[in-house]
Parts: sequence; C-alpha cells; structure tokens
Amino acid sequence: MIKVCKFGGTSMADGTMMKRVASIIHSDDARRYVVVSAPGKRYGGDVKITDLLYRCYDSVKENGTCGEAFEKIKERFRGIVAELGLSFDIESVLEETAREIEAEKSADFTASRGEYLSARVMAALLGFDFIDARDVVKFRPDGQLDDERTFYLTAAALKGKRYAVVSGFYGEDADGRVKTFSRGGSDVSGAIVARAVMADLYENWTDVSGFLACDPRIVDNPERIASMSYKELRELSYMGANVLHSESIFPVRAANIPICIKNTFRPTDEGTMILPISKYNYTGKIVTGIAGKKNFTVIFIEKSLMNAEIGFARKVLSVLEKYHVSFEHMPSGIDTMSFVIDSEELKNGVKEQLMEEIRREVSPDNLHAFDDVALIATVGHGMSKNVGTSAKLFDAIARAGINVRMIDQGSSELNIIVGVDNENCERAIRAIYEEFFKKDASFGL
Ligand code: ASP
Repeated sequence: MIKVCKFGGTSMADGTMMKRVASIIHSDDARRYVVVSAPGKRYGGDVKITDLLYRCYDSVKENGTCGEAFEKIKERFRGIVAELGLSFDIESVLEETAREIEAEKSADFTASRGEYLSARVMAALLGFDFIDARDVVKFRPDGQLDDERTFYLTAAALKGKRYAVVSGFYGEDADGRVKTFSRGGSDVSGAIVARAVMADLYENWTDVSGFLACDPRIVDNPERIASMSYKELRELSYMGANVLHSESIFPVRAANIPICIKNTFRPTDEGTMILPISKYNYTGKIVTGIAGKKNFTVIFIEKSLMNAEIGFARKVLSVLEKYHVSFEHMPSGIDTMSFVIDSEELKNGVKEQLMEEIRREVSPDNLHAFDDVALIATVGHGMSKNVGTSAKLFDAIARAGINVRMIDQGSSELNIIVGVDNENCERAIRAIYEEFFKKDASFGL
C-alpha cells in the first residue's frame, strides 16, 4: 500500500504544525511520499510565505534586491528550524536563495522558493530524501504540463526510494527555467507524484474535514460530502468550491487513484473521498453539492433560422478567437445562441468591439449582453436517477422570488447551471440547499 500525502500551507505554517504533520506521516507506514506547500498563514491577518515572495520579486524588479519581505521570510524559517530543533543549516540555504532570487529575476522562480525551502526542512525533519520538483516536473513550450515526461522522470527519481519529500507548486519550463502552476498548484504536484508511484491513495491534507455541500459562508453548517466522483469534483471545483486545485484530478484520474481530503487539525475525521466512477457507490443523494461563481457576462445572439445557416456558429466562434476570448458555457436554443464569458475577459472595450464584429459577421436579429451574472452549479449523479429534479430546483428558485437569466443543463445530467443576477447568488444557493438537503434530501423519501 502506498499513500502520497500533500500538505497545504496551513499544515506547514510553523514548527508546531510541521511536528503535527510528521506525526501523521509516521503513524502510517504507507505514507511514503510527501508533497508540501510553502508555509501559509498562522493566524488571520498573517501573510503566506508565497505572498511575501511575490513582494520580494517586486523589490528585485524595482531595486535589484530582495528587500524587507525577505527578512520576514528569513525570520519565519529560522523560527521553524529552531522550533523543530533541527541541525539543518538554514542560514546558508536562505543566503543562497536570496542570491539566486536576485540573479534569476523571475516571478515564478521567486515564488517557488517557499515550497523549495519547506520541502528541504520537512525532508530534514522526517529523515526522508528530498526531491527538487524542478528535476522531475516539466512543462512544454506551450506552458502546459508535459505529463508523460513528468511521470517518467518522477517515477524514475522515486524508484528505489522508500520515502521522499517532493516540493510542490513548481517545475521547469522548456527553456530550463523554473515555472509555477497557478496558485494552489501543490495539489497538482501531489497528484503527479501519486500517479508516478501508482499510489493506492492520494491524501490531500488541508485545514477542513473535506468538501461541504456548499459554501459555509452562505449556508450555516452545510453537510459534509462523504464521497463523490471525479466528475462531480471537477464540476464543483471549477465552479469555485476551492478545497482542491481544479486541475489536480487529471493526473490521478488517468490511473484511477482515489483522493481523500483530510484535515491536519482533526486527522481522525473521515474527510471526503473522491473516486473514479467505477468505485463510486451511489449514496442515494439527489444532489452532491452546490457551488456558485459571480461576475459573468452573457452575450445573447438571436437570428431566425440560424440552424439552417451553414457556418453560423463557426463565424461567431472565430470572432471570439480573434479577440482571444474564451467562454465557459454556450447554451443554445432553436434560433438563439449565447455565450457565458468571465467578465474579466471583456474589459477595456473588448465587449463592445466583439459585439460589433459579431453584428457584422452574422447580422443577427437581436444581439445583446448582460453583465453581473452569477452562475450556480447544482451537481450530482443522483439528478439523472430522479424524475423531476430540475422542476424542484427551478421551483425553489422561483419561490425565493429570483429571476433565472440563463439555464444550461449539461448532456450528462450531472450538472444544472443557472445564471442569476450577482446580487441573488447567495439567496439562490440557500434556496437550492434548502430544497435538496433539508426537505427532500434523499432518494425515496
Ligand atoms: N504556495 C502556493 C500558493 O500559495 C502553492 C500552494 O500552496 O499550493 O498558492
């Protein structure tokens, strides 16, 4: 049995937390490969090491030196090593790191040093080998992960090593320079290691006991999700349920490795299991989780007989491509087509130019855009097994007096997405939660 354990920033925040992590690892001999984040916040208002490093980079850009922010980083790591009572020579590693940051002058290199340092400290604490992610995680020239090469190199580096600590969050690009994933990317690193060693389980240790059925800032005490499928996870995390980086399932999915979300503060809590559909047992729930995201724009195009006009969609899509605008959803009707786009992408006059060009290209009868739309995804395999799910969902939203601006039901019946005005987002989520979790939560009731 092999378990790969990834510990997030809160789990690595200080020496006390790192000791806790070490005891979790030592309590189970299957926990052989460990991936770590940089030390995160120790208390509300504290600053994550990664954020301090981005400040260092700003200082390097402005005046060539790491500056004040690096002093804070030094203090944090000195404190950690002292608290752990390690003989590890942190001073020289920190000095060398500062020199490298100043020489490299790269935001990604600078940011990656948090994970580099915490992995070195953790390896010293556990007595495990240290593997620098730079040597094994490789990106292609287009910036995407070079998965085959990465899995091969990671597997080769870990072969014959019974225990190891791998730094999270970064790798190396095609030019041999350090490149990071997007924020929270150590989750992806953990999944890569799990895949490379063909782990039986990928444990992702964080500061919550798994996924909740919806955001606890919106609904008081929502239910914990005991298990869900990769597909459900993908839908929920893409829509803003941010316990796990949304790209972290790809490596493990390819090898059917389950993920377990665990809480470092409460290690005996069960957490949430995320399983391939083949291992997923239907729990009887209609809805597994609800997630919402704000600030979308819907561009709505109407033209009679658009269905008969060959090349209509291609022309519209070429306009989006020309302006480098990607869309999230494309609900369509007989004579209508609409695009749901992150409003950020349409800033600085892009929206107006794009609409003008669509008008020229396809001469629609009607073309308009509405902003400030929130998307709410109601997700669950159970929805396809139960008659009347969408009726219930829309009824709940209607009873709350909320106007639905857009509907998109994926063909898999795993997900129903509704668009509402930003200001109604929280109320709509509450209404849906009430409907499916409080009133009629399970199959057959
Ligand atoms: N330290 C990085 C961040 O704060 C990556 C990670 O923790 O996964 O985003």
